[in-house]
Amino acid sequence: MADLQAELDRIDAEIRAAEDWGEVAAYIPELARVPKRQFAIAVATADGALCAAGEAGQSFSLQSVTKVFALAIALGRSGDQLWARVGREPSGSAFNSIIQLEHEGGRPRNPFINAGAIVVTDEILAGREPRHALSEIVQFVRAAAGDEDIHINRAVAQSETRHGHRNFSLAHFLASCENLKNPPEKTLGTYFHQCAIEMTARQLALAGRFLIGPPAGPRLISTQRIRRLNALMLTCGHYDGSGDFAYRVGIPAKSGVGGGILGIVPGVASVAVWSPGLNRYGNSKLGTEALERLARAMDWSVF
Ligand code: GLN
Repeated sequence: MADLQAELDRIDAEIRAAEDWGEVAAYIPELARVPKRQFAIAVATADGALCAAGEAGQSFSLQSVTKVFALAIALGRSGDQLWARVGREPSGSAFNSIIQLEHEGGRPRNPFINAGAIVVTDEILAGREPRHALSEIVQFVRAAAGDEDIHINRAVAQSETRHGHRNFSLAHFLASCENLKNPPEKTLGTYFHQCAIEMTARQLALAGRFLIGPPAGPRLISTQRIRRLNALMLTCGHYDGSGDFAYRVGIPAKSGVGGGILGIVPGVASVAVWSPGLNRYGNSKLGTEALERLARAMDWSVF
């Protein structure tokens, strides 16, 4: 994969020359402390290669990228019953929007906006204690990455718990609509810890292999489910920036406010990028630019 490595090195050099690195997420104080001039890119290919450039061994907060793993687990537990509680349409609203949830009677538009992801975590939690649900999520991610050295950063989880008023509003509203099975505090405690999982770009690229689909990648879920998760990532993975992302990059992907993005080139590769500065949608600014450059250089697109 000499070409791919050369491409990643070139993109790394180009991205580092950027003037505008975006803005780090300020509403979670622990994330606001992360220096924004950092960049990493890693690619795990279907044929088993792993290439990386930049700070690809530096851990970062996965945040909403964990929603993909959580959804895979929730669908495994509840199957199609989950869709009675959460929709599958792009929201066209910010990831933490409250107004749409009331308009739609407490059924979140999709599982990747915060309200929907809170429902997904609530589903995983139902009937057991947070530490068991969290252990299943962390074990799933470790199995996907083939790496046991993946952990939750408790300081990040606590920081978000102390400042998570918006998510508390969403969770209480869901509860008022009888769309929460557990007490809001319990579900949110689990959700904040799930979001606080940390990984390096290298680990994330490896963890994404289960979404590449046949013939590659660990067979953690069925082919049909792989396709469906990718469809949701393409249409909803970047919130109200999903259309722009599909236009510019053209592959299914999921972002997080820690600055990470996991992108999947079906049948070909899993790509992780990280740069903590965000654009106006709350998606990594330079991470998106790097994926746009990589997709163009490698001729990768689902279209
Ligand atoms: N934990 C974050 C939140 O709930 C995740 C949001 C994100 O990464 N977009 O606000």
